[in-house]
Amino acid sequence: MAYNEAMVVVVTGGSGLVGQAIQTVVEQSRNVNERWIFLSSKNADLKSASETCAVFEKYKPTHVIHLAAMVGGLYRNMKYNCDFLRFNQLINDNVLEACKKMKVKKVVSCLSTCIFPDKTPYPIDETMVHNGPPHHSNFGYSMAKRMIDVMNHAYHEQYGCNFTSVIPTNVYGPHDNFNLEDGHVLPGLIHKVYMAKQNGTPFTIWGTGKPLRQFVYSMDLAKLMIWVLHEYNEINPIILSVDEQDEVSIREAAEMVVEAFDFKGDVVYDTTKADGQFKKTACNVKLRTYLPDFQFTPIRQGIKETVDWFIENYESARK
Ligand code: NAP
Ligand code: GDP
Repeated sequence: MAYNEAMVVVVTGGSGLVGQAIQTVVEQSRNVNERWIFLSSKNADLKSASETCAVFEKYKPTHVIHLAAMVGGLYRNMKYNCDFLRFNQLINDNVLEACKKMKVKKVVSCLSTCIFPDKTPYPIDETMVHNGPPHHSNFGYSMAKRMIDVMNHAYHEQYGCNFTSVIPTNVYGPHDNFNLEDGHVLPGLIHKVYMAKQNGTPFTIWGTGKPLRQFVYSMDLAKLMIWVLHEYNEINPIILSVDEQDEVSIREAAEMVVEAFDFKGDVVYDTTKADGQFKKTACNVKLRTYLPDFQFTPIRQGIKETVDWFIENYESARK
């Protein structure tokens, strides 16, 4: 696809962590031939087929980045597996069918490395998404997400649609959900250190701190997703991840948050809380084959920027 072809890009889930990062990057490098529209649930509840059709009729996208989903960290997933499965299946079915009906030229949807099989050799690559059941803690979210890849192939084979997907590892950055019960680990740790510092109380990390994660800064992911929209021409997914050697333990990530806040209080572990999947190490060789020189933001810097954003935007942040 020509980069300069006139494009109307609709981003579903445009008000969230990833959507807001894409908006920031687009605003920094505005291409006059592209009109970008960032949707939230206020524009349409994408669980409703009629509301989905109406919003697609309104904006008539030529291209779609599909981010909208019920999203949450380990503990929210464990509580609401059925809702994660049903709501995300509904959203994905409505969005992809609307894209087919509107003859959208390309759709990039978002999977996640937490949908990978639980029992698997490491590192995991794009060919292994469906090789065995996901970790039990988030099977609802995982199975709904895996079906996007199945749908992409089905729409391509039967209708010739150009629907693809990306597989990001754990994302973090400004505009994340900092709610302690619902959110992911890094926003949760940031919010907890903020409160511990304010109140002079200990900072509690849930679980053992031993699990390993590859964290990708939302601004890096945004740049990569825009690249995928313009340049990546496969139906099969592509993993968007930092390199394997950049995987860190939850303990190391927590130490970086402590450092970013210059927090001097006590740090404790609540090992009665679940650890979830021990690791889900992803291989980014496919990405590196396309973009060997892409520079990821070092995690210390990304955490510091996110902490600074959270402090500055404490009143309005999702928490
Ligand atoms: P997020 O911050 O929770 O944002 C979710 C977005 O989806 C919001 O814009 C929300 O709109 C929208 N949304 C939710 N339910 C909707 C509905 N029924 N109708 C319309 N819009 C709805 O999530 P995120 O972290 O940016 O995640 C974006 C995508 O990346 C998701 O597909 C997620 O699965 C994937 N992903 C995330 C991570 C991660 O670590 N965060 C990792 C891998 C993949 P409102 O603001 O109006 O509620
Ligand atoms: P996951 O990567 O999909 O498992 O989801 P999360 O982003 O929620 O990360 C979960 C991991 O972080 C588990 O090992 C948790 O025990 C650990 N963790 C430590 N403290 C927290 C916290 O405050 N919130 C969350 N969500 N996880 C935490």
